Order: sequence, then structure tokens, then C-alpha cells
Amino acid sequence: MLTFHIITLFPESLTSYIGESILSRAQEKKLIKIKVYNPRDFAEVVGTPEYPRLKVDGRPYSGGPGMVLLPGPILRAVGKARGKTKTGKWKTIIFSPGGTVFTNAYAKNIIDKKITDIIMICGRYEGIDARVKKILKAEEVSIGEYVLTGGELPAMVAMDSISRQIKGVLGKFESLEENRISSHEVYTRPEIFEYQKKKYKVPAVLLSGDHKKIEEWKRRG
Ligand code: SAM
Repeated sequence: MLTFHIITLFPESLTSYIGESILSRAQEKKLIKIKVYNPRDFAEVVGTPEYPRLKVDGRPYSGGPGMVLLPGPILRAVGKARGKTKTGKWKTIIFSPGGTVFTNAYAKNIIDKKITDIIMICGRYEGIDARVKKILKAEEVSIGEYVLTGGELPAMVAMDSISRQIKGVLGKFESLEENRISSHEVYTRPEIFEYQKKKYKVPAVLLSGDHKKIEEWKRRG
């Protein structure tokens, strides 16, 4: 079983996606487990007795408008995730637009290495105090060359892709996207689809029954 430990200030943003379809079934089948920790639950209370608030961020030393996530609450949340466990093979990922780009090969490698627990830390605002990465010896991972509002979407992307690599998560292991990545062009019925008086046909090769030719067509993508 692979356990994902997600550290996020916005746990509810994950709820619907992880509660549906393949990820939901993978949890039911006990192939994966998803645990969520909110750094707010590990934050210091600041402010006044009348207006207390939980401090999870601070101004950057470099200046600038955005806030930076404090190391303390994140590290305490990670400590909670790790608990007293000394067993298993752990990996810690911090999502960052400047990190190693996440690929199918990255996902497969996690399964091949028999990782049992992955801590995924989701940034927000200007990002996470860089000392968290050093202390945890974490790897920075990006899901692409664009900047998102937070690390929650990257965490879901990575979780989904990694889970699909686990035997039994998909209906048929052979149907792994990785194995058919070159055949992303797919068709279903009807054979001829009419739209705004134009006819759109399924490629003839797919109707030929010639499996060799079909495989070649798929490879050409
Ligand atoms: N200036 C910050 C930087 O370059 O890291 C931008 C921070 S971004 C607004 C807030 C958080 O979203 C980041 O700390 C990271 O966790 C996450 N994030 C945004 N884009 C991402 C991407 N392409 N891949 C992975 N994480 C991303």
C-alpha cells in the first residue's frame, strides 16, 4: 500500500477529486491511502485575545508583495505525518514551479523503488521558506512551466499519475496510459459522425481488423 501524506493549507480543495473514480476505488481496494494535514493545525496563535489568529506565513526577507509559508507549522505537520514510524521507504516532495518536471517515468520510478509513503508539500502565496527543503532533504517537483496558485493541483496530478502505475488500480494493468501514450487519438461509435452537415469518419485502418496495421497506426500517433 502506498500512502500519500498531503500537507496543505486548503485540504478541502482536494476532497472532490480524491473522492471520485479511480482514486476513490484505489482507496477502497486499499491500494493507496490519502492522509491530509493542515499546517494551520500546527501553527502558533498570534494577535490579541479578542482577535487571535493562526500564523502560517510571514513577509519575505527579500522584500516583495507575497507572503512566505513559515517553516515551523509545515515541519510540525510533516512530523505528525511521519509519526513514530521507522519502517517503510519515504519520499518528500515540495511542489514548486522551478522543480524537476514531473513525468510518467517519474511516477513509474516511485513504484519501481517500492516507496511506501510520499509526503507532498503544497506551497501557496510566494512559496515555502527554503529551509524546509534543506531540513527534509526534499525534492522540488514541478508539473509544468507555468505558475499556479498553489501546490494542490500539482499534488492531485502527481497522486493520480503515480496511482495509475500501481498494479490493480486500473481495470486492466495493460491499459496504463503509459503503454498507449502514442495512441491518444481514440474513436467510438458511430463510424460516421455528422456535425453541422459535415461527415467525420473513423480512420479506415481502425475498422480493418488488421491488428498489425492498427498497432502501427497507434505508434505513429
Ligand atoms: N514565485 C513563486 C515561485 O516561483 O515558486 C510562485 C509561487 S506559486 C504562486 C504558489 C505555490 O504553488 C508554489 O509554492 C508551489 O507549491 C505551487 N505551484 C505553482 N505552480 C506550480 C507548478 N507549475 N508546479 C508545481 N507547483 C506549483
